[in-house]
Amino acid sequence: MTATKSAVLQLLSPMTGIACPLAQVPDPAFAQRLVGDGYAIDPTESLLCAPCDGTVTQVHPACHAVTLTTDSGAELLIHVGVDTVKLGGEGFTARVQQGERVTAKTPLLELDLDRIAMKARSLRTVVLLTDQDRILSLTPTEEAFVRVGDPLFSVEFKASADGDAPAAQDLESMQASESVRIINPVGLHARPAAALAAIAKRFDSAVLLKKDESVVNARSVVALMGLNVAFADEVQVLAQGEDAEAAIRAVVAGLESGLGEAGAEPGRAEAQAELDLYAEPSLLFAQDDEEGTLRGVEAAPGQVHGTLFVANSELPQVVKQGSGVGQEREALTQAVETAGKTLEETVADLRAKGMGQKADIFVAHQELLSDPDLFDAAMAAIAQGQSAGYAWAEAVSEQAKQLASMDNVVLAGRAADLRDVGERVSRLLAGLPQRAIPSDLPAGTILVARELTPSDTAELDPERVVGMVTVQGGSASHSAILARALGIAALTGVDERVLELHDTPALLDTGAGLLSLNPSGAQLMALAQHQEQQAQRDAEAFASKDEPAITRDGVRIEVAGNIAKAEDALKLVANGGEAVGLLRTEFLYEASPVFPSESEQEQSIRAVLAALESRPLVVRTLDVGGDKPLPYLPLPKEDNPFLGERGLRVGLDKPVVLRQQLRALLKASDAGRVRIMFPMVSSLFELKLAKRILAQEAEALGVNLDDIEVGIMIEVPSAALMADVLAPHVDFFSIGTNDLTQYTLAIDRGHPKLAAIADGLHPAVLRLIKATTDAARKAGKWTGVCGGLAGERDAVPLLVGLGVDELSCSVPVIPQVKQQVRNLSREACESLADAAMACADAAEVRAQMQAFHATLDGH
Ligand code: PEP
Ligand code: MG
Repeated sequence: MTATKSAVLQLLSPMTGIACPLAQVPDPAFAQRLVGDGYAIDPTESLLCAPCDGTVTQVHPACHAVTLTTDSGAELLIHVGVDTVKLGGEGFTARVQQGERVTAKTPLLELDLDRIAMKARSLRTVVLLTDQDRILSLTPTEEAFVRVGDPLFSVEFKASADGDAPAAQDLESMQASESVRIINPVGLHARPAAALAAIAKRFDSAVLLKKDESVVNARSVVALMGLNVAFADEVQVLAQGEDAEAAIRAVVAGLESGLGEAGAEPGRAEAQAELDLYAEPSLLFAQDDEEGTLRGVEAAPGQVHGTLFVANSELPQVVKQGSGVGQEREALTQAVETAGKTLEETVADLRAKGMGQKADIFVAHQELLSDPDLFDAAMAAIAQGQSAGYAWAEAVSEQAKQLASMDNVVLAGRAADLRDVGERVSRLLAGLPQRAIPSDLPAGTILVARELTPSDTAELDPERVVGMVTVQGGSASHSAILARALGIAALTGVDERVLELHDTPALLDTGAGLLSLNPSGAQLMALAQHQEQQAQRDAEAFASKDEPAITRDGVRIEVAGNIAKAEDALKLVANGGEAVGLLRTEFLYEASPVFPSESEQEQSIRAVLAALESRPLVVRTLDVGGDKPLPYLPLPKEDNPFLGERGLRVGLDKPVVLRQQLRALLKASDAGRVRIMFPMVSSLFELKLAKRILAQEAEALGVNLDDIEVGIMIEVPSAALMADVLAPHVDFFSIGTNDLTQYTLAIDRGHPKLAAIADGLHPAVLRLIKATTDAARKAGKWTGVCGGLAGERDAVPLLVGLGVDELSCSVPVIPQVKQQVRNLSREACESLADAAMACADAAEVRAQMQAFHATLDGH
């Protein structure tokens, strides 16, 4: 650094909190000024801002520290908390990037203080000038409490200097050490970097540290931190000058001893470097077989041929610097106009199709897009030299954050809409189509994406999209469920390489878990044959769709369907569905940008009942949380959201939401046969609370509950095991095999790779199903299955054998399930189920089922 004579630098407080001297920071490296001199703050608020103008020299990969170089060349380190490097970024969000110019008070980091406080030793945050040799005097604030932007301390620098590290070293001519392996467990973070700089400063020679092709001045803590030296990395020490040899020896010795850091043990780093984690292929995850074939997990069944369309929803990085104010303004104006026009057309189109509710969402988007504040904020940033893309994205992000932080859930819910419409414009500015998934995909498309949201999937046209391939999202994920409902073949957990294969012809065989690229003529012929046979079977099943499903030995199984809305109910009736075994009400909430009103909910239930023409309807109360967030419903951040506030627990935590929904159901119950079902019940305690709320609301509305069956989902092992205790309190059970499998096998249902082994036919799951049906029968109650197993060819005979009374599957497979039941006998199925429960694993059960199908088919 080159300080001018007696230069004074004023540093502002980067955070709001209590100002304190470094000596009060519980870390000797800071307290003893080993890293630099400055002042500290004990933060009370979560935003960290720049203490002065400068350039961001580094945002540490763990985001807990930022270094700035001030305009006068001073190096500044802002380090949040003590031992926070070990959090690996948890609780920190960077708001700036390396190389970015910032002015005082620009937000640098956003912190989740509660989260950090739980894991770090202290939150005390230091602002340090690392080159202490240059400091003549330091004057701290006299205030005990400071706000962001208040003065924190000022420094007076000594007159300009000699002895700076030589700027342009001729590296070739310098003396160099052998490679040294870093043994500090979290690399050269602030503390060891300070110790290393202190050693280097003891020598007159220039001392540099080299990692790969990067070389930095070893006397600068900031530069050392910027080198991103991690555990087990190899570095070299370079020096030039009279005492170069001694300097190298001392620095190398320091590095080899771990620079005084606890836990730095020689030997461990060597061992780590020798350990090649990828030397042996995974035994857990399936590998791709051969070139031209990608493996995955079946999410919705089907064998189809088509052309891959890769929907890229990731926006490219935008440069901050604009290429002229006029040009950038014009670009933004054009993009906003184009987006506005498309929205107008979409609204008109949806209205014409009678889809008023969907149209309203886009009307809200139109309003947000025409908000002058948003546009003006972006234009102002463009005037400052920013690019249209950057300025727009920042303006949207800023407004969305403001909305999201509001206590008003309705306004908070608008944040998601704003981001959505903002992305439309950003995509246009980046020269991309407005939507990642265009509405006019060509027929025969196999849609490929990293991940699809339920709303992406819900908007797909099955006439055009024949298949779906995703990198993420397991077979029981909600987009998989929707794909099944739409009858679109889907494969998930496929290698990322698929994202590079836009426009490639492919054959998707979900049963085999394969995506074959550029299929041969023979493969296509075989597919056509198979499809013909399948079509014939489907036609047979469809012809008898309205016949009941009675086994050969006279047991009637109710075959119902899982739906989300009234349109599905019409399809269910057309497919011979005898009831709705599961109405997933969360889709009504998801389709709405705010909480649907009580009367909206009532109307939507009435619409379903009308479509069902007196068939029974199991309405499941709101089942969100875990894999199903609702933007406008505040849920806590949890380490394991599937084990936290999910399902009925959300309704019990926010009874207002549950009460409102129950009132809507009760009011609509005069229009048909409503059955009420609570999701994810794990104990009698939860069930009793829910029933109490139901009774209170029924009483208030004067509705007689005797006419309404009340049941629970069995999807948690504790509920299955305690089914005998729960049974007297319900009219029915419905087994959610998707979640029951997840919770029994401890495999996340959305896990992109592990989901392949989360097989609901695992004997452990089958035994829990048996425990449930046994308990229900003893108590004189009925049991249904509404998880994915209910529609699986391998599972149906087993479920019948396990004593299930109702199967509620996805609507398209209702005729096949009915047909399959007609070809079974309960007695034979019981033996089959007994044998399956005695199997060692799901693969054995599947093999047994293959043999069973072969006997039935007469092979
Ligand atoms: C289940 O868990 O099996 C189920 C039917 O509920 P959902 O898939 O909606 O969680
Ligand atoms: Mg479930």
